[in-house]
Amino acid sequence: MKRLLIILALFLVPVQARAADLSSMGLCKITYYCPCESCSGPYQDKTATGTRCEEGRTVAVDPDVIAYGTKLLIDGKVYIAEDCGPGVKGDHIDIYLDDHERTERLGVRYTNVWIIRGGEWDE
Ligand SMILES: [Zn+2]
Repeated sequence: MKRLLIILALFLVPVQARAADLSSMGLCKITYYCPCESCSGPYQDKTATGTRCEEGRTVAVDPDVIAYGTKLLIDGKVYIAEDCGPGVKGDHIDIYLDDHERTERLGVRYTNVWIIRGGEWDE
């Protein structure tokens, strides 16, 4: 029984710490883009904030809605808002991918997005 309680405590504490740092954006529109000319024009893999796009990290947002540098939790993965796009307005997040084929295959969908405020999120 004692062992079980210790295991439970280890499990519950991080969950509570995580929940406190999340703020819901509700259901957001999710699309995908890549460095090709049709997706990114002349910018290629350069973001609006001067970083180089990285799959699994970079997302484009409407900077009037989400500040650059904000960490976002989408489908259990952490992304950083560091780019923008002419078609990315309001509750719309454009996720960077390395190749165009997947951006078309994944298309458009809607999912819950969370803003991670403070603290660290361990994936
Ligand atoms: Zn593309």
